[in-house]
Amino acid sequence: MSETLKIDAAASADDAVGTVREWVHEHVPAAWREAGERGGATAIRAVRTREEYAEWYPVFGSSGLVVPTWPAAYGGLDVSLDVARAIDGELAPYNLGRLNPLGLNLCAPALFAHGTDDQRLRFLPPIVRNEERWCQLFSEPGAGSDLASLATRAERDGDEWSITGQKVWTTWAHQSEYAVLLARTDTSVSKRKGITYFLMKLDQPGVDIRPLRHITGEADFNEVFLDGARVPDIQRVGEVGDGWRVANATLSSERQMVAGAGSGGVDRIGGLGVDHALDLAVKRGRSVEPVLRQRLVALYSEERIRGWTNERARADRATGRPPGPESSVGKIHSGEVNQRLQVLATDLLGADALAWESGADNYDASLPHEVHGMLRSRANTIEGGTSEVNRNIVGERVLGLPREPDPWKDAPWGDVPRS
Ligand SMILES: Cc1cc2nc3c(=O)[nH]c(=O)nc-3n(C[C@H](O)[C@H](O)[C@H](O)COP(=O)(O)OP(=O)(O)OC[C@H]3O[C@@H](n4cnc5c(N)ncnc54)[C@H](O)[C@@H]3O)c2cc1C
Repeated sequence: MSETLKIDAAASADDAVGTVREWVHEHVPAAWREAGERGGATAIRAVRTREEYAEWYPVFGSSGLVVPTWPAAYGGLDVSLDVARAIDGELAPYNLGRLNPLGLNLCAPALFAHGTDDQRLRFLPPIVRNEERWCQLFSEPGAGSDLASLATRAERDGDEWSITGQKVWTTWAHQSEYAVLLARTDTSVSKRKGITYFLMKLDQPGVDIRPLRHITGEADFNEVFLDGARVPDIQRVGEVGDGWRVANATLSSERQMVAGAGSGGVDRIGGLGVDHALDLAVKRGRSVEPVLRQRLVALYSEERIRGWTNERARADRATGRPPGPESSVGKIHSGEVNQRLQVLATDLLGADALAWESGADNYDASLPHEVHGMLRSRANTIEGGTSEVNRNIVGERVLGLPREPDPWKDAPWGDVPRS
């Protein structure tokens, strides 16, 4: 394992880049380095498996390079935004993706905005090192788009809370150590006022995690049944009843993550980029077809716009400004563009697309993976908030249109009818 890098807070970008170059030389395996310098991410994929990357990751995780602008005490390097940008540029050819995206993009923003320093010191360093992985226990069978109507209860019991209810669609719950959790602590006030935000350990009695299968055949999300699970009060974030405000710090970061503008290693959920579609069109002799060329060029332009928008959003985040309602614009655009791109990649396969087999267990990299990407991308306009709901957010909070009517908005949660 490597030590945290030492970069003076007053160091210039050039000095920092020199230190990072030495670190890369010393710590990144030679075969990955050579592949990265020769052919970028595509060449690296040919020499590095996901398992090998996860095994090596503690070296990256403890270097401070995962989150250079964060304070050193939380796992970063305490450097300025300009220096961090230069560092990212130096690391870019080696495709060192950030693991633990839900820890970095959901838990961390909530702790920065509303946590205590003790909570940040306890939870942020293991998130950065990927030693404690995180998932998000928000959605319920009766509360998705209308998340504030959630029904999972948290009842105070001395220095602890007892949690009972059901969550659903919980990505990676089966592989995580901790979850951010929203639970109702007061039923006598309106729905947004009675919610509290907790950090919950998953490996305990009273937590039952059951896998659900995607259309692709893989099971990477779950339903989670909570029956008297315990959370110490020191793991409550924000005041009792103020969880909706804390959740909003998490939800806009989540939209940025799903759109590819987050700080975690999520750029595209489902499928490969437009360069892959261009390659495929050439290899299959389809790049001469005028209608297809038009689809490719339109997607190429939209992908560039997506990339620039994400860069702007990331730069904003790095200055410390929390993501606002504009994160909904990126979320809507990236989901819809990716779906069109993955459909195009599948179209390019023609009848070969039928050779695809579903399911992680029989996944064979020699079979066309474009179909897998196309099927996975169907969820892009649902996960992290649906496109319809994000359009409502843009309408209300960016364009200033009247709010959607909600006759139950101020009624006590206990009086609101539920199915
Ligand atoms: C792959 C994937 C991973 C996920 N991972 C997680 C996770 O880790 N943790 C977690 O908590 N949740 C997760 N979710 C859940 C996700 O946040 C919800 O699916 C999403 O918020 C929609 O909620 P719902 O499924 O209950 O749909 P509903 O809210 O029932 O919506 C059904 C339809 O009605 C539309 N609709 C609803 N309300 C309105 C409105 N006011 N105006 C216009 N249209 C509306 C919706 O757009 C949608 O088309 C995941 C979902 C997916 C698909």
